[in-house]
Amino acid sequence: MKISEHLTLEELSFSEAAARLGLDNTPGPIVITNLGLVAAVMERVRTLLGGRPIVVHSGYRSAEVNRAVGGVVTSAHCFGLACDFVCPTFGTPAEVALAILKSDIEYDQLILEYGWVHVGLAQEGLLSRREALTKRSPGAAYVSGIRA
Ligand SMILES: [Zn+2]
Repeated sequence: MKISEHLTLEELSFSEAAARLGLDNTPGPIVITNLGLVAAVMERVRTLLGGRPIVVHSGYRSAEVNRAVGGVVTSAHCFGLACDFVCPTFGTPAEVALAILKSDIEYDQLILEYGWVHVGLAQEGLLSRREALTKRSPGAAYVSGIRA
């Protein structure tokens, strides 16, 4: 099911871990609404990156799936408010994150992770912090800014 011009609900709720471990990762109505907001932001990202295809690594993660992948309990992914992605035809994750940082795209958190970019949106009614962070490895602490 398409939820924006270029993204489907399936792409934003697919979980490799869920498939592998047999966990349920079916989004409920609120999550589906939130994923629609994420998809709209990702369309803006796609346009910013010259209309190049976005490859989604992870969108929605149920609490069960998030636990299995070691995600933080308050992760925006659990609310369907985040997307981890790459855009290899545009550049490295660092180049993608820097382009978003310099744009006027509204996000709550922009994180350059080890191998992908995380864009998270604020919960309904909360202001976007427009916080940019870098995490260089699974065990590393988050550092402020996008550090290529
Ligand atoms: Zn993420």
